[in-house]
Amino acid sequence: MDLTSPKVIRSIQDKFGFTFKKGLGQNFLTSNDILEDITDAADIDGGVIEIGPGFGVLTRALAEKAEKVISIELDERLLPVLQYTLSDFDNVKIVNADVLKLDLNSLIREEFGSQKVSIAANLPYYITTPIITRLLEEKLPVKNIVVMVQKEVAERMAAEPSTKDYGAITVLCKYFTNPQIVANVPSSLFVPPPKVDSAVLKLEVLDKPAVDVSDEKLFFRVVKAAFSQRRKTLLNCLCANFPINKADMSELLLKINIDPKRRGETLSLKEFAAITDAINSFSE
Ligand code: SAM
Repeated sequence: MDLTSPKVIRSIQDKFGFTFKKGLGQNFLTSNDILEDITDAADIDGGVIEIGPGFGVLTRALAEKAEKVISIELDERLLPVLQYTLSDFDNVKIVNADVLKLDLNSLIREEFGSQKVSIAANLPYYITTPIITRLLEEKLPVKNIVVMVQKEVAERMAAEPSTKDYGAITVLCKYFTNPQIVANVPSSLFVPPPKVDSAVLKLEVLDKPAVDVSDEKLFFRVVKAAFSQRRKTLLNCLCANFPINKADMSELLLKINIDPKRRGETLSLKEFAAITDAINSFSE
């Protein structure tokens, strides 16, 4: 069954009376090359969690390589479709749930024991940032996350300091992972085509965070503060978010060789870590 064929997609739609729901980000992939890019990047050697199988095009490609695929789909209208399109696989389980509300840690433990899994998805774009944030912050037993996302979002997640794309989400991704764009995907490769182009992003989860920090929560508060007002200096952004006066904050930054007049978007992860440690020791 070639689910990348728009003809096949249409015939399944007719068979099940299925109409696409824009609100659920239902844009189905029609490229075998991109499927291969995703499964190659996922570097599968055991279990896979998929988010949003749709008609099962990526699920099938993953199931060919994985021991077991657990696929989480919110739209219950897709359950009979998936039963039909995946009937020749016995290593796929569909979980009908909202991925944002699911206890992923328990699910992974129940299904895969102590094994680390890959996460693969052509993500519904309306939940890209919350889901990636959750996947990273919850420190799940995951070795890599390979996701199709809006091109601009992929560029932000893999950006370098001092570029317009560099922001708090970049720092989050680079703190926990090595982010790389694996492929650019034009909107014409989806049915129905979305308004924006896409990219496949690989987040290779690091064994330990990219920088050592004395307090991780504080680190992310510093990052959020530094990017809170892009046109303001680092000094002003930090003082607006921490109970430290300007003179003290300025001295604290100068002591770690950071010019208080710099902008948040010029700071490396190491510099964010140094600021965190300095604020932490000042507050003690
Ligand atoms: N994997 C298919 C493909 O590549 O063609 C479909 C991808 S489509 C972009 C996104 C899928 O995610 C849809 O099947 C949609 O119903 C599902 N979805 C949307 N919101 C979801 C949520 N909160 N939790 C789980 N699945 C969701």
